[in-house]
Amino acid sequence: MKLLQPNEMVDSIYDINLSSLKAKGIKGIITDMDNTLLAWHSSEITPTAAQWVNEVRQADLKIAIVSNNSPARVEELSAQLGVICIAKAVKPRRSAFRSIAAQFNLSPQEMAVVGDQLFTDVLGGNRAGMYTILVNPISKHEFIGTKIMRLLEKLFLQR
Ligand SMILES: [Mg+2]
Repeated sequence: MKLLQPNEMVDSIYDINLSSLKAKGIKGIITDMDNTLLAWHSSEITPTAAQWVNEVRQADLKIAIVSNNSPARVEELSAQLGVICIAKAVKPRRSAFRSIAAQFNLSPQEMAVVGDQLFTDVLGGNRAGMYTILVNPISKHEFIGTKIMRLLEKLFLQR
């Protein structure tokens, strides 16, 4: 059950305190794409999202995108932001998170995982030994499987 508990819960990526993350020894961030960085299935990067990615870089933190979504879209959007990515990551599997940490030459303890889903982002990040941050999903419109997961998440968080 501890593996389903995020270290932090914030409203959105814009509420993440980057300097306090750095004070905790975090040197890199892995962010989810859908409903975390962008609205679900949106194919456009908003100026605010792009600005946030720049703020992360300016704070001297590395940043990468790890998504379970299809490569075509994830890779295109990541390229637009100039960040490395792994698509079809099969979160909560640990391999994508570990691969990014290895590419950054950072240990899991130096990495934070940001996402809107307990059963993929938080579970996967915790399993990989990383610091986990749960955000509220940007949009309500989503895949039915995700909706069922949300319901389970709600039940879990209420406990
Ligand atoms: Mg998501």
